[in-house]
Amino acid sequence: MKVLRAKVLGFCMGVRRAMNMAGSEARLLGDLACSKQIDGSPPHAAEHSGPPARDPSSIPPLSQPKIFTIGPLIHNPQALKTLSEQGISVLEEDALPPCLTGAVLIVRAHGITPGLEETLKERGGRLVDATCPHVRSSQTRARQLAEAGYHIFLAGEKRHGEIIGIQGYAEQGQKALLESGRMPEASGGGDAAPGLPCTIVADAAEAEEAARLLHEKNSGLSCALLAQTTMSPEEYKKTGDAILKYFPSLRIVDTICGATRDRQEALRELCAAVEAVIIAGGRESANTRRLLAIARNSGVPAWLAETQADLPKEIWNYSVVGLSAGASTPDSIIRDIERALTGSQDAV
Ligand code: SF4
Repeated sequence: MKVLRAKVLGFCMGVRRAMNMAGSEARLLGDLACSKQIDGSPPHAAEHSGPPARDPSSIPPLSQPKIFTIGPLIHNPQALKTLSEQGISVLEEDALPPCLTGAVLIVRAHGITPGLEETLKERGGRLVDATCPHVRSSQTRARQLAEAGYHIFLAGEKRHGEIIGIQGYAEQGQKALLESGRMPEASGGGDAAPGLPCTIVADAAEAEEAARLLHEKNSGLSCALLAQTTMSPEEYKKTGDAILKYFPSLRIVDTICGATRDRQEALRELCAAVEAVIIAGGRESANTRRLLAIARNSGVPAWLAETQADLPKEIWNYSVVGLSAGASTPDSIIRDIERALTGSQDAV
């Protein structure tokens, strides 16, 4: 069987960076544990920028391992298993221990709210910020715009960690604005209360309704639109057009990351050259599932495989197969699947 890879596939810059940062922390912890075993001395606390030491009796025991990611670092079960084998486990935001002294806390690529960051630091954790630079840029823009008095429309999934984080930065900006006493006056006979600094909208229809309601309250508001980094440019354009009907001076900020689009375009190109497609990646990964839908919509038979064990038996009916992978799929999984496809059927 001939296997053609999509020109762009697998880890995006933000996920690769976060995984590398997590790996470095695991190696550092391993080195410290080794040096402790060799000379019997405690790990080099001075190398860490954590809070001053506390009376050990006052600290509730922290379950091992001591490196945590705040929520899953990546939506891929095999990658999470590898991280866990390196001593890195997941800490859920709603189940934080009261004391995190001694813990290394890795902030995932999609970021967290400034409030949560503060809480983690207050509880004694040392933060390793793996927030993707694209997401960091959206957070900064949201804070700046809110501080400048803009109401922000945030296009994306309400419960997604990235959106929740950006919303937190908008709230921080509004707080700074209120403290400065520069709150703009309501116009159009509306409400002078500041209200929420941002409105999250999932699509153009929601955006239009939200804009209509906001316009009724305060037609003179300055508004800006930001997108979740993975949003489709087409949906973002429609969302912007819907809000422009009510707020013609809407400031539309381009916060869409090219990584998702690049993988999707490369896959469309690949589909034209192959008989069937395998998308490597986790079933829980939204961008991986989206790639599968794109391949199927292109008219080629397509399957999702988390590992080579998931390859369907039908794949052996084809002689030219395309291979793509979501932005959270590790290189090793892509390689294993490719080897299984190019090897004999027994290899699977
Ligand atoms: S998809 Fe884009 S914004 Fe999201 S982590 Fe990857 S590079 Fe960063």
